Amino acid sequence: MTQNVPNYTEVSYICIAHTRRVGYVTTSGNEFTHLSVFTHEAAHKIDSIINRLFDPDFSDKLRHAFRVAVEKGAWKGLSSETPAEYWAYGTELWFYEIGKGRKFETYEDFKKFDPLLYDLLSEWFPKVSLIGY
Ligand SMILES: [Zn+2]
Repeated sequence: MTQNVPNYTEVSYICIAHTRRVGYVTTSGNEFTHLSVFTHEAAHKIDSIINRLFDPDFSDKLRHAFRVAVEKGAWKGLSSETPAEYWAYGTELWFYEIGKGRKFETYEDFKKFDPLLYDLLSEWFPKVSLIGY
């Protein structure tokens, strides 16, 4: 089974490239943390698990949310990315950028920024910050 786990260095490199392309920088000034990279990659797997096991319409909902967000201009730089990357970046924000002094002070602020993504994330993830872990 571990043979199927990608090389962590390779995964990190891919995610650094993704992160820099969209200009995503955490409030702390770091372009990324290893934990947020892990979260990003886990989000990709969770996305497919949700779709396969729990909600066969999830991909359609995600594509719709992505299209609306891009049209709205909420995620500048993401227009050439995919719904899967949108979900993974959103998951990073969900766990690392909501809270006092962060990109979003509250979950309501995040909801105003991207209501459809908020709905998807809040359906599958608890409102828990992973900052400090
Ligand atoms: Zn990714």
